[in-house]
Parts: sequence; C-alpha cells; structure tokens
Amino acid sequence: MSSFVDLHIHSNLSDGLHTPTDVLADVRRRELTAFAVTDHDTLAGYRAVRDLTNDSDPELVPGVELSVSGGEYDLHLLAYYLDPDYTPLLKILEDFCNHRNQRAGVIVERLNGLGVEITLDDVIRVAQAAAVGRPHIATAMHASGAVSSYQMAFDKYLGNGKPAYVPKKNFDPELAISLVHEAGGVVVLAHPAIEETFQHLEMLVGLGLDGIEVYHPSHKPKQVDQFKHLAERFRLIITGGSDSHGRAGRYGEIGSLSVSEDLMPALRQRARQRKERA
Ligand code: AMP
Ligand code: FE
Ligand code: FE
Ligand code: ZN
Repeated sequence: MSSFVDLHIHSNLSDGLHTPTDVLADVRRRELTAFAVTDHDTLAGYRAVRDLTNDSDPELVPGVELSVSGGEYDLHLLAYYLDPDYTPLLKILEDFCNHRNQRAGVIVERLNGLGVEITLDDVIRVAQAAAVGRPHIATAMHASGAVSSYQMAFDKYLGNGKPAYVPKKNFDPELAISLVHEAGGVVVLAHPAIEETFQHLEMLVGLGLDGIEVYHPSHKPKQVDQFKHLAERFRLIITGGSDSHGRAGRYGEIGSLSVSEDLMPALRQRARQRKERA
C-alpha cells in the first residue's frame, strides 16, 4: 500500500481556519505518514500541533512558510526541519508579526476610504490569536456583506496591485535562506506556479535554495512535469502538500494531494547535511 504525506498545511495560528486540534484530527483520519504545519511567518502552528501529538502519530516535520520580497516580486519559501527555537529567526518573525497588525489597520482605513464599512475589530475577531493577514480581512469583508465572496475581496480590493493592497515587511531572500540554514533547516520554493515565481528559481538556487514544491493544488499536470525537470536540472529536492487553509478555493484539503512518502528520504538527507554545516 502506498503511503502519503502532506508538507504544506496552515492552521488558525496564521490564516487557516482549522485549530491545531482539527489539523491533527484530519492528519490522523487521512493516515498520513508525515506532515508539516507551515503557518505564515510563525512557528506557533508547528509548536501547538507538536504539543498535541503522541508517539503513535505520524512524523511532524518542523515547518514555516516565509514571505519574501525582492525588487519586483513577492514569493513564499517553505522551511523544513529547522530548529524551531532558533532565536535570531524568532526575533525577526515577532517583528513581522507586529508589523502585520499595524498594516491591517492601514488596509482597513483604505477600505473605509473605498466605501467598505468594516472595522479593525471585525478583522481582529476573525484573526483571534493569529497575526493578521489579508485572508482574515477578506473573511471579515465577506461576513459583513461588503463582498459577495471571499475571493471577491481579493479580486476587487486586496489582491496584489488592487486598491486596498498594502505591501508588508518581508524577508529579503538572502536573509531568509541563510537564517533557515543557520537553524539547520532546508528551504523550498513554495507553489512556483502562483505568480510564476519559478522565474526566480535560478537566483534562489544561487543563494542556496534546497528544493522546489512540485506538488501543489494550483499546479496543472504540465507544470508538475516542468517543475520536476527544474528540480533535476538544479539538483533540488522535491516536496508537496495541499496548502490546506481549511477553506475551498485555490487550496486543497489536508492529505488531498496524495503526495508520496517516497520524497521523504531525500528531504531528510538534505536536512541532515544542513544540520552538519549549521
Ligand atoms: P498576507 O500575508 O496578509 O499578504 O496574505 C497572503 C495570503 O493571502 C496568501 O498566503 C493567500 O492565502 C492569500 N492570497 C493572496 N493573494 C490572493 C488572491 N489573489 N486570491 C486568494 N487568496 C490570496
Ligand atoms: Fe495563506
Ligand atoms: Fe504560500
Ligand atoms: Zn501556504
């Protein structure tokens, strides 16, 4: 029987809907053999799920999804097997988290200026313990009836380049990659088809990128082949996951992508190499 993993899962400690308890329940139901909770710019999701697991659970890989910006682009990097207590990284993430909350206020002001009547309180009620992201704002907008759907909030207001889009403080790629390596982890380019961030692959490889997320719900079969070839060409490890946020749309459900466990040995080996060099 084949075994499956899911290396890209969000909880409600970033912009997912599922609590850590729900995430773990889903992982158990799906009988995955390994999984990673990769919340945006925080290790709190990983930590919360880790504290709920027991010895009979599948392997939980430490993970986080980092937001990176360069001159003209934004992209996401997934980090795996890093030391979740590496202070230099945690300090920066905390700073980003505070910045996110301030940015939410700016976005709400912009929306108000565009005639959308929502308050920062509405948004914070959605985000609860999480650092505020655009998905929380989109959810609050939909709940208040300002837009007809969650996706419409992005298409009309919040998406990159739309009128209420406010950029946030992000890592530059060099710093993100070197911090994760210092923390003994590996770095993977997330969902390279979204906004065609595969264009930056060669640059990232030059900075020490370890892998590419070949399997993602947004990838068409042709793109999966394309990214496999890129992995081979640049000697990158291959990862994959549902990017579950607990809501339908551009994401999958936990375990829904049937990513084979066969990719784990190469990932673990790369992590061992990084730890030796860290
Ligand atoms: P933030 O980190 O606050 O900038 O929000 C980024 C998150 O918003 C991404 O991880 C996605 O979950 C979501 N997102 C960004 N752009 C879109 C879009 N055009 N449509 C749907 N979701 C989006
Ligand atoms: Fe997200
Ligand atoms: Fe992402
Ligand atoms: Zn994600």
